[in-house]
Amino acid sequence: MITRLKELEELSRFLDPDQQQRDRWNASVTAYANTFINTLKNTQTYVHSEENERSVNHLNITEQPTPLSDLLEQTTNSIDEVGLNPASAGHMGYIPGGGLYPSALGDYIAAVSNRYAGIFYTAPGAVRLENMLTRWMCDLMGYPKSAIGNLTSGGSIANLVAIVTAREALALKARDFEKSVIYLSEQAHHSIQKAVRISGLSEAHLRYIPLDEGLRMSVPALEKAILADKKKGLLPFFINASFGTTNTGAIDPILSIASIAKTYKLWFHVDAAYGGFFKLVAHMSSKFKGIAMADSITLDPHKTLFLPFGTGTILVKDRKKLLNAYHYMADYMQDARVANTEISPADISPELTKHFRGMRLWLPLKLFGLKPFRAALEEKLLLAQYFYREIRKLDAFVTGPEPELSVVMFRYMPINADANLFNKKLIQAIQKDGRIFLSSTTVNDVFWIRVAVVIFRTHLQQIDLLLEIIKENVAKLSKQSTEN
Ligand SMILES: *Cc1c(COP(=O)(O)O)cnc(C)c1O
Repeated sequence: MITRLKELEELSRFLDPDQQQRDRWNASVTAYANTFINTLKNTQTYVHSEENERSVNHLNITEQPTPLSDLLEQTTNSIDEVGLNPASAGHMGYIPGGGLYPSALGDYIAAVSNRYAGIFYTAPGAVRLENMLTRWMCDLMGYPKSAIGNLTSGGSIANLVAIVTAREALALKARDFEKSVIYLSEQAHHSIQKAVRISGLSEAHLRYIPLDEGLRMSVPALEKAILADKKKGLLPFFINASFGTTNTGAIDPILSIASIAKTYKLWFHVDAAYGGFFKLVAHMSSKFKGIAMADSITLDPHKTLFLPFGTGTILVKDRKKLLNAYHYMADYMQDARVANTEISPADISPELTKHFRGMRLWLPLKLFGLKPFRAALEEKLLLAQYFYREIRKLDAFVTGPEPELSVVMFRYMPINADANLFNKKLIQAIQKDGRIFLSSTTVNDVFWIRVAVVIFRTHLQQIDLLLEIIKENVAKLSKQSTEN
């Protein structure tokens, strides 16, 4: 047995490399990161390559070790150089990502130290750090001291946590589900519908409230729908308002919806996954009026705080309700009960063991201070305004509503061709060009191209380049359609 143990020890020690080995690996990874970041300027934002996509099959798990240099090369070829590059300044599709460098260092620190950040008893420092970060977000939204937050993996999970919390807070039971009504607009993020299903509420009614001309939820229509449902004996239960829709960046009228929710005693959720952190821009403050009346708010640091993917946030105004929905105590956790002076993430989320997410958020906020975040967010708002103004100056372009945040919808109106078809071809041409990545959407059967400015690396130069690319491709497509 001792001999076998010695043999096994010798092998398992490979899992704990010495400093020399670690230094070599660190140097390789740093070199990889530098190449990645330094060449972003010259790499395509979007690359379609079947060959490279397939080459990922070479990366399967084997009995023998592979040198790090090979693995990094394969990462570059098979992963980095295919599809969409969300770290690129040219990514203006969807609600883009980011990838602040200090967050990578934060992940490194969190992974090396591997603090057990789910439970206060085991990692009081880590839990206090995360609670301090969500406290900061609560203060930013104007929430009272009773509020609490949890760092989730993203906005979808944050929305799910909100719906489950509301379901528990209003003590809905299975027999109530088919009478329950959820109010949202057609422009709500699809993660809300997904969360409704996951939380067991598929039988509930989803009421899509009509939009006003700015594609915001119509408040009179909302109130009418609630009254009609009450009259039918249904249970109006949950309102989702978007603070910045993904499609158009529209902000639902938060204050008016809040007062309706209060009058009729519905749970009021604000999905501010995209728009929430624009609160850091001083002149945006007035748009947030009423948000503190929400029962819950979703924020997404991996969007408008520019973090790499993997960090969302749910804030709940009354901490008791979040605790009530998620708190659980197992016998093998009895030691954790002792020092329960601080709320633990495990008490307010579906997770137990979890990544110490606070580090990737705290490190960049502290290293940079808030000033450059405020500047970058104001810059994104202005860049969207600039694009909106410039594209409207061009012949035959129309736009959606003036951007409230940093999304602009536009389309080209050809004289002798079908506009939807033309714009479909236009976005395909832009995606094929690959220098800038845009996405499209359909609103009321009209095909629109969207520009979403959210990447911290996107500046005036990229917007000017985008305008050039659009002009070039419209000229090419117009020429083709007259030749046909
Ligand atoms: C992105 C987004 C979500 C979903 O968040 P994920 O982080 O992608 O899970 C939800 N709501 C809105 C408004 C969003 O923009």
